[in-house]
Order: sequence, then C-alpha cells, then structure tokens
Amino acid sequence: MGVSYVVRVGPYIELSNLSVDSKKDIMACLNKSCPEITKPASGKFCANCGDKLSHAELTKKNKLRSSQILEDYIKDFKFYDHDAGDGSYYFYSRERMYEMDFGEVANITPDGIKEDLIKFTRDFKDTITRLEEVFGENHVTVSYGIVTIVC
Ligand SMILES: [Zn+2]
Repeated sequence: MGVSYVVRVGPYIELSNLSVDSKKDIMACLNKSCPEITKPASGKFCANCGDKLSHAELTKKNKLRSSQILEDYIKDFKFYDHDAGDGSYYFYSRERMYEMDFGEVANITPDGIKEDLIKFTRDFKDTITRLEEVFGENHVTVSYGIVTIVC
C-alpha cells in the first residue's frame, strides 16, 4: 500500500479566523460557588446547590466544516477544500493550480504570480465577493502558494 503526494502551485482562497457564535437562552444555576454555574439545567432549582435556576445566555462556538462552506458559498465542483483545523480554510481550484511532477523544477516569478492572481480574482469575482459578504472582508484572502495533497 502506498501513499501518493501531489504538489500543486497556484492561487487559492483562504478563509481565516472563522468562528460563528450562536447564542441560546437556557436555564442555569448562577451561584458563583456552584460547580454547575452557567451549565444548562432543567427544573426550577439547581440539582447541585439548590439555588433557583435563572435565565442565562449560552454562547456556543460553532465549528464550520470546509466542505459545507464549499457547498453553500463556493458552489464550484472544481474547487477543493482543506480545513487546517485552527479556524483557517483553504479552497483551491485544481484546474487553476499547476501540478508539479516528481523532479520537475518550476520557475516562479513575481510577474507570473501577479498574472495568476489577477486572472483568478477576476474569474472567481462572484465567489470571492459572496465569501466576503458572508464572512467579512478581513477573513477572506486570495493568496498564491503550494498545496500538498495526499491521495
Ligand atoms: Zn448550583
């Protein structure tokens, strides 16, 4: 059994520092000396300390899935997603990235990068705009780099 690595070079979209908070109204114990403080509880009184339960707001960090972002907002089957696991997500178009063969040398020039980025940003303008609207402009970057894919 072998593992194949594919190296691609080219433009990609990066979404960084994403977290979507959801707030939920819950009943909880608000006694500062109770270990159950702000944990969702049911009934009228805290099962631990006996204090009356009160309304509290529970903030939950929702983890997004890169495949969901791809499906909902990028909507381009030629794109691939990668979730870095730290709130950063990468989306690259297989067709727009240059695939390196083993032993191949690529000359990457500033002009070539610039040209690729201009083309990519122009061709995927609608997608980039949509992502900026949904996640905020400061979370969306078009970059140029190397992606390693394990197949
Ligand atoms: Zn309590």
